[in-house]
Amino acid sequence: MRASSLALFALALATAPVSLAHAQDIPEEDLTAAVEFAMHDATFTLYHEIGHMLVGELGIPVLGKEEDAADALATIMLLTDDEDMDSYNALVDASDGWYFNAVKSTGSGVEDFSYYDEHSLDIQRAYAMVCLMVGKDPEAFSQTAEAYELDQDRVDSCAYTYDQAYTSWTYLLEPHAVANEPGAEITVTYEDAGDLDAFAEMLKEREVLERAAKLVMSRYVLPGPVTFRAALCGESNAYYSPSDSEITYCYELAADMFQLYLVDILGHSFEEE
Ligand SMILES: [Zn+2]
Repeated sequence: MRASSLALFALALATAPVSLAHAQDIPEEDLTAAVEFAMHDATFTLYHEIGHMLVGELGIPVLGKEEDAADALATIMLLTDDEDMDSYNALVDASDGWYFNAVKSTGSGVEDFSYYDEHSLDIQRAYAMVCLMVGKDPEAFSQTAEAYELDQDRVDSCAYTYDQAYTSWTYLLEPHAVANEPGAEITVTYEDAGDLDAFAEMLKEREVLERAAKLVMSRYVLPGPVTFRAALCGESNAYYSPSDSEITYCYELAADMFQLYLVDILGHSFEEE
């Protein structure tokens, strides 16, 4: 990455609600890793919303919580994306994102999470994702299995969990698979990103939205046009709007994950403004 674009990220941090104490002193490699982390999280988040979108647009029945379904579908799509060599890394970073978000919001380690605590949802999401990853490819994700302390029995049962999830989704999506004619188009749009322009440029450079749009169009016949939109939302979020057939990814989320990585994972200090 060019040093000039790194300076832009440092600048974006200066305008963040919680500014890093000495953004200019953060080593370049840490900034680069934080950008990578934020973009990997953006990829997973987008696929999660694509899960909601497919359920909505294709009228797929969902048994259980739709959030869990969207996570499972996102994970399966990334695990089976042979075009993108980086998709495995995106999964590892996204699960770590959930994990550290949970640690951040409770201020405690994983052993202290309660099943009834709303924050434990993040940690459950991380474990559910990791189980599918390890279930699909135990060798590639052996370090992740170790980090999450999954023993061999658990790894074995995750193989079954993955097979079951994969078979179920394949069955449900089969009627909508591209056979000859493609379906409706997905259009990608970028709105003005203001102070967070460095993140918008990075999304464009890595073609996060474009690549996901291409993958979905190559696999499924959409009944009507869909838009993938990157925008400033006033909050750190991403969502699918069924009435507009639109997925919105908020630039604030990229900035948030960038900061989470620097502060909560790498341990750089910060101060309240
Ligand atoms: Zn969701």
